[in-house]
Amino acid sequence: MTATDASSDVRPAVVDPAHLVSRIAAGHRLTAEEGLAVLATPDALTVPLVAAAGTLRRRAFGRTVKVNYLVNLKSGLCPEDCTYCSQRLGSTADILRYTWLSPDEAVHQAAMGVAGGASRVCMVSAGRGPTHRDVERVAGMVEQLKGEHPDVEVCACLGLLKDGQAERLRQAGVDAYNHNLNTAESMYADICSTHTYADRVDTVGKARDAGLSPCSGLIVGMGESDEQVVEAVLALRELGSDSIPVNFLMPFDGTPLAGTWELTPLRCLRILALVRLACPDTELRMAGGREMHLRTLQPLALEVANSLFLGDYLTSEGQAASDDLQMIADAGLVVLGREDEDPAVLASTLREAAERAEAAQRAEQHAVEETPAGGCCGTPALRRRGAGTDAAPNA
Ligand code: SF4
Repeated sequence: MTATDASSDVRPAVVDPAHLVSRIAAGHRLTAEEGLAVLATPDALTVPLVAAAGTLRRRAFGRTVKVNYLVNLKSGLCPEDCTYCSQRLGSTADILRYTWLSPDEAVHQAAMGVAGGASRVCMVSAGRGPTHRDVERVAGMVEQLKGEHPDVEVCACLGLLKDGQAERLRQAGVDAYNHNLNTAESMYADICSTHTYADRVDTVGKARDAGLSPCSGLIVGMGESDEQVVEAVLALRELGSDSIPVNFLMPFDGTPLAGTWELTPLRCLRILALVRLACPDTELRMAGGREMHLRTLQPLALEVANSLFLGDYLTSEGQAASDDLQMIADAGLVVLGREDEDPAVLASTLREAAERAEAAQRAEQHAVEETPAGGCCGTPALRRRGAGTDAAPNA
């Protein structure tokens, strides 16, 4: 069933955003019916919905935007078959494929993100889950990174965890663990056959029980109905996720979901508003695919989302990191942890550094290919810089 089918079967009651927000501010928990009504908000009323939900964001997070930076420690060749993933078993997407970065390289890449304004670094590896040796390897990287940048938050994202691994990561200084539920339980078997929704819930629980801050979110635009979006969001609320990344499907060529284009910028905004209304005090991150799906409405999304990834994603390129910071500045927002600095100045520092790196690369005749920076309605721009390459990262 498509999102359109779902919303036309039984027309949900029209929501009065201001009234709903004032009830939520007073402690009301969004119901599934209200969630459906939020998703059914007409296009013409979506910006007022976002503005109303934004009061909850401002109450919890003020003008701050948390900036996160991804480091792909090990790319591609995953034995799992998640349909949306360019690193899946059988993917013919022309992504970078490499085994573990050296600790020095991983720390160098992370430090570039910190210099670019990130207060959290997300260290990610493709695979079903880490071996104990992998956990030791990542623990060493994190200890080194924390030694050099004691204030940075580290989130690990290494797949399904076995007993004891979350505790070891916590001991090494890892602050958070990301493992997305991705979609509703009722849809999970449609997007993956090699592990289950329950496996994912189990890993989030292991992370939380070990004292790691649980980060778990969604990918939307994979064929889910409105009911399934609401089901997934309420499940994340029940799970107690401290941060919720919302990814918008990037339909990589060479994956089963290639060519899937279900989202509009306004639907993306309604989904983000839904998460904000369901989880008024939770970090909400506009994550992968924001450039191609929100397009010119990205700054409006920051009215409900209080967090984003800077620069590039695991296997695709985002817009220039300097543009991310400029967008924050233009929206009158500030970078969390660097509230005293003008994000426009941070943006111009990054822009100048990127220009210098590009000039140096041209001089070495290794010019980076021009890319559409996650441009709209095309295939995602594959990452060809940063971790696993000789080219300067996008930060
Ligand atoms: S999402 Fe993770 S587990 Fe699934 S195929 Fe991609 S890398 Fe593997």
